[in-house]
Amino acid sequence: MTVLEVKNIAKQFGGITALTDVNFSVAEGEVFGLIGPNGAGKTTMFNIITSMFPPTAGEITFLGEKLNGLKPFEITKKGICRTFQNIRLFPDMTVLENVTVGSHSRTGSGVWSSFFRTKKQKQEEAATRDRARSLLELVGLSEQADEFADNLSYGQQRRLEIARALASDPKLLLLDEPAAGMNEKETNDLFDLIQKIKARGITVVLIEHDMPLVMRICDRLAVLNFGREIALGTPEEIRANPEVIEAYLGKE
Ligand code: ATP
Repeated sequence: MTVLEVKNIAKQFGGITALTDVNFSVAEGEVFGLIGPNGAGKTTMFNIITSMFPPTAGEITFLGEKLNGLKPFEITKKGICRTFQNIRLFPDMTVLENVTVGSHSRTGSGVWSSFFRTKKQKQEEAATRDRARSLLELVGLSEQADEFADNLSYGQQRRLEIARALASDPKLLLLDEPAAGMNEKETNDLFDLIQKIKARGITVVLIEHDMPLVMRICDRLAVLNFGREIALGTPEEIRANPEVIEAYLGKE
């Protein structure tokens, strides 16, 4: 089953062409990589999928439904969540609170919903916290649950961002350079985590510059260069593609 379909997407920012006629589709349960040099348009593609801004042309379909024109919170409700290239946590909240805030964005029943809470709301909050704890376990941060987010190491903060994105129970998870700044051990942990996310049946689109990670974890890849899609295929096909080697891989 196709989860995400990107059809003829183009994006202009004034005189800058960020994307030109990009097409790909992502099947359920896949880890799909979006790679290419800096400024190729990868994050712009995530911003269009999540409706941060509209495309200049083209269409995004999620589970057969057009997303064009929806608000970002409506995209989250449909089951698409993302992380950002620059970590966006709440540094003065605990690790656990950062995750419960994530669940609020999908269900509207997070810890902040009401000051005077009914028994049912309190039960919902307890369930939200239980779920957040199990996500912290998944990303390996159970022991840090009550620490402030800004006390975490860089790699831990990246994993917390992923836990928060998972809190809204997405069907599709968009990860924007999750390995950026990670050491080798943290990158290996990230590989395991993405495998676990995949094993839960969540479809993943991954923007990443760490080629060993990308080639190990992705089922298929699209390569962008100056906003143009220059290749689409399996890691083996991409690795052997002369245009990709010329534009990107050869320069690594
Ligand atoms: P990187 O690997 O460095 O993150 P990228 O592939 O994610 O790069 P984008 O951030 O999507 O690239 O940028 C693509 C092009 O669009 C760049 O030329 C960038 O300057 C431009 N661009 C992106 N967002 C905006 C914006 N909001 N306004 C104007 N130009 C933008």
